Amino acid sequence: MVLPAESGLTFRGIAASAGYAQGRVFRLETRVSRYERKASPALEVAALETAIETASGRLADLASHSSGDAADMLEFQIAMLGDSSLSGPALDAVAAGKAADEAWSAALQAEISGYEAAEDEYFRARAADLKDIRQQVLDVLVSAGSRDAPAGAILVGDDIAPTRFLATDWSQGGGIALTAGSSASHVAMLARSRGVPMVVGLGPVPVDFDGVALLDAEHGSLLLGAEGEAVELFRTSADAFLASRRSAQAHLHKPAVTADGTPVTMLVNVADPQDVDAIDIATCDGVGLMRTEFLFGKASGLPDEENQYRAYRRVLEWAAGKPVTIRTVDAGGDKPVAGFTVEETNPFLGLRGIRLALARPDVFRIQIRALLRAAVHGNLKVMFPMVAVADEYQRARAMFAEEAARLGDSGVASAMPPLGIMVEVPSVAVAPELFADAAFFSIGSNDLTQYVMAAARDNASVAALNAVTNPAVLRLIAAVARFGRDNGIPVSLCGDAAGDPVAIPHLLKAGLRDLSVVPAQLASAKAAVAAARV
Ligand code: PEP
Ligand code: MG
Repeated sequence: MVLPAESGLTFRGIAASAGYAQGRVFRLETRVSRYERKASPALEVAALETAIETASGRLADLASHSSGDAADMLEFQIAMLGDSSLSGPALDAVAAGKAADEAWSAALQAEISGYEAAEDEYFRARAADLKDIRQQVLDVLVSAGSRDAPAGAILVGDDIAPTRFLATDWSQGGGIALTAGSSASHVAMLARSRGVPMVVGLGPVPVDFDGVALLDAEHGSLLLGAEGEAVELFRTSADAFLASRRSAQAHLHKPAVTADGTPVTMLVNVADPQDVDAIDIATCDGVGLMRTEFLFGKASGLPDEENQYRAYRRVLEWAAGKPVTIRTVDAGGDKPVAGFTVEETNPFLGLRGIRLALARPDVFRIQIRALLRAAVHGNLKVMFPMVAVADEYQRARAMFAEEAARLGDSGVASAMPPLGIMVEVPSVAVAPELFADAAFFSIGSNDLTQYVMAAARDNASVAALNAVTNPAVLRLIAAVARFGRDNGIPVSLCGDAAGDPVAIPHLLKAGLRDLSVVPAQLASAKAAVAAARV
């Protein structure tokens, strides 16, 4: 949206969940409440313990009405509240005479500062969970009343607690405008899955503004005090966005075919096995990427064989014979997993993906067995992430063969799925002929782009460089597609570009005919295919 100069105050940030919202500003900052100290340290300790318990009970209640990412986030918060290494220092300080609210705030602040200082975006994003927990316990201590925003408001603040998001009524529209925040946060994931417009990284927004705001979460801006032409321009953009969403919706139940008649296979990306409950299998051609890191990031520790087997089987049965490509664990980089990944100064170039899996056969073999057992329940394909040299593929494949033989010896039903690789490290895209024994290729455009362009996928200041449409990236994609076609190796693409209407015509021109997208983008991706000519 191009704004006229006199259009009020404009703040620019990063769109974290696309959409438009117009509504009154509601400041997210916490109200200052007063805590009444108890008569003795013992009573003070009891007050804090009760507050932690009550907050935990409220979270459990919220969790019982949630599923997927929201339930996971709440489970994480409940686990944090139950963790004595978090509450212990606060309770000790209270027993030594400090007030419960001060001690709790100070203990949590120490943890929050640690998370906020982390180099890794994932850990920085978790600071929001800790702030959320801190506030919930303080609310109980001071018996704070409702902090609910009115329906349809634009919530403005530094960051928003995930539970606050879940407790907000989004039925009348509204949106989120954060001065800081992160598009990798739990709240951003929730906002995307619920279609709530959200912009992060806006920088300082005046705290005293009390009026109507216009949130453009398609391009990433917030307008305060806009009038006349600016408001009309905003409405025109919002209407166009809604119209294109609606017309895209009409494509959801149709097969994807380009304007000049070329069929395109449209698959979906999933993570939580529960994701598939909301998807009608008739609208897609199967699963092009099931990320399994999700199963590994739980507070309860690394998943055992049985839990993994059940998760994979559930998705395979849902797909009812359509292909399901499950990726072996891709931990590391921006996806740290406690008890598995290692601390590194440059995790994107470190021990992640297949490198880590091969370095930890104790963990990898459990996943391999679960996959081999699940394979009898559907049309499974398995792929390895972050492969850089052929030896990694061969070693992983050998481990599959060994585990299959073991399962066979013990009379456990299993099947060997086709084994393919992600093409996301430039060494593979440049020399695909070294990987000709892989059963299939799936291009990971998120990582391929960041490595080709030397521009991190999670760094807003180099976001413009991180472009899949850069000729260098597209040339590599086209070369991989051509190599696959010439050698009978199926090639698909499962990075975010597959769901980007701007990138889709370029990907089709590069020769791709298989795209895997997040379910929320399936309709708009099919619409973009229908508009493209190859
Ligand atoms: C990719 O890199 O494009 C990809 C699909 O993998 P992830 O985003 O999980 O790294
Ligand atoms: Mg990747």
